Amino acid sequence: MPVVELKGVKKHYMLGQTRVEALRGVDLDIDGGEFIAIAGPSGSGKSTMLNMFGCIDVPTDGQVKIDGKDISSLSDKDLTRWRREKIGFIFQSFNLIPVLDVYENIEFPLLLDRSLGRKEREALVMRFIDEVGLRDRIHNKSYELSGGQRQRVAIARALVTRPLIVLADEPTANLDSETGTRIIELMRTINEEEKTTFVFSTHDAHIMGEARRVVRILDGRIVDAGRAAEGAA
Ligand code: ADP
Repeated sequence: MPVVELKGVKKHYMLGQTRVEALRGVDLDIDGGEFIAIAGPSGSGKSTMLNMFGCIDVPTDGQVKIDGKDISSLSDKDLTRWRREKIGFIFQSFNLIPVLDVYENIEFPLLLDRSLGRKEREALVMRFIDEVGLRDRIHNKSYELSGGQRQRVAIARALVTRPLIVLADEPTANLDSETGTRIIELMRTINEEEKTTFVFSTHDAHIMGEARRVVRILDGRIVDAGRAAEGAA
């Protein structure tokens, strides 16, 4: 079963009297364990699509299923829970808490999970600190880190809850190209080791080249799903 299924998804926004058609009928399946780039120019609908995958927004028309569940059928409360359990987010601006150190930033989402004991929590945090190679920075506050190091913390924080899908909206936008490439390579290594599904958006051709599958979007439509079978569907 795919972890993400979009069928005929449309999303409209009203800007004053004008209707903006951010998504104009999108069909897309993403299987567990994929490493996908959503590629397209600014304004093409990438963020809108990621917001659907992340249960941040629901479609105006059509169906979005995340791990088999139609997100339009969920109440706000259930949608929030579904998001917390299934999705890890990585943002282009990192979104770390400046006064917390590396360990505390990564631990933060686990504090919401009351079923987890202190020892288990510690083991998870240490495992993902090692995974992103930041053991020697463990007690540094996030404002003491470089952009690349901050994005490594954000990756570990997204992974530590063991989500089904990790979503990253332009995760390399605030990094120089060499650091950006290294961050995507790190995500791919984790994808291979942990089998976590990664979906990231980008308009950078070089970064797209690091993906296993590239879904191209233009003016709210998929112009290339990156897989022959879906192109024919
Ligand atoms: P991208 O991520 O590819 O830059 P977006 O998904 O952010 O594209 O935007 C797609 C279109 O939808 C753009 O025309 C954008 O201006 C519009 N849009 C996105 N979010 C909103 C919103 N909350 N209100 C009105 N228009 C929006």
